[in-house]
Amino acid sequence: MKTVISLDDLRQARAQLPAPVGFVPTMGYLHEGHLSLVRQARAACASVVVSIFVNPTQFGPSEDLASYPRNLQRDLALLEEAHVDLVWSPSADEMYPPGFQTWVSVDDLTAPLEGALRPGHFRGVTTVVSKLFNAVQPQKAYFGQKDAQQAAVIGRMVRDLNFPIEIVICPIAREPDGLAMSSRNVYLNVEERQAATVLYRSLLAAQAAVRSGETRAEIVRAAMQEIFDREPLANIQYIAIVDPETFRTRDRLSGGELVLLAVKIGRTRLIDNAILGESM
Ligand code: AMP
Repeated sequence: MKTVISLDDLRQARAQLPAPVGFVPTMGYLHEGHLSLVRQARAACASVVVSIFVNPTQFGPSEDLASYPRNLQRDLALLEEAHVDLVWSPSADEMYPPGFQTWVSVDDLTAPLEGALRPGHFRGVTTVVSKLFNAVQPQKAYFGQKDAQQAAVIGRMVRDLNFPIEIVICPIAREPDGLAMSSRNVYLNVEERQAATVLYRSLLAAQAAVRSGETRAEIVRAAMQEIFDREPLANIQYIAIVDPETFRTRDRLSGGELVLLAVKIGRTRLIDNAILGESM
């Protein structure tokens, strides 16, 4: 496994790699969710490239950029074990040179939910992912369903800008008790960690409601709300049931809708989602 920092070194190393190249962009502090993406890339591609970059432009001024967990040595050991060919951990200075003022942004899809609560977040994501794609030039790129709106936004961007890249969306990796794996789970103390399973439990309640024939989104959301009413450490930011393509709210359900939630447990913000009618 080769590890590079500069864009020049990345381009040189990339030129040596046999196609198809599979690419997994990450912000590091890797867990089983990231590694499941890497494994899927490894199984389908001749070469696998992983980037590790805590992208400053996707964090809001009051968000956790400074405290975001980092452990490059551990990440590299995990990636080596997973038979990755090339790891790129660019510097913020090279990604955002002095005077930087060019942005990629996606319109409607970024307006609701994460986009509404985190102004500028998706512009940071689509800009950095465009830059990573331009540099790595992969044939396939792997993203997690964990960040469902992000995955949809990247898919839209790739189609709109004609990137010749296939976007592969991978299922959500969960802890044994259902909590979706996230680098931010490390922020949770013991009580918060227990409370955090409320997201998964509420998604199970939504699935149960749909399985029993409920077609009113309002009632499904009420069933989720009931789970939260018994969890004092949790503060809901949103529970939304949307069309998985447009992210527009759905009132009547016919199966296949996406239910998404963002919740604060203490100071830690967690997101999760599920496709209604699918096992999880
Ligand atoms: P991040 O390092 O948080 O930017 O995540 C990098 C990639 O890993 C993104 O495509 C995420 O959606 C994906 N990812 C993060 N957590 C999970 C998870 N629990 N299961 C599957 N994919 C994940």
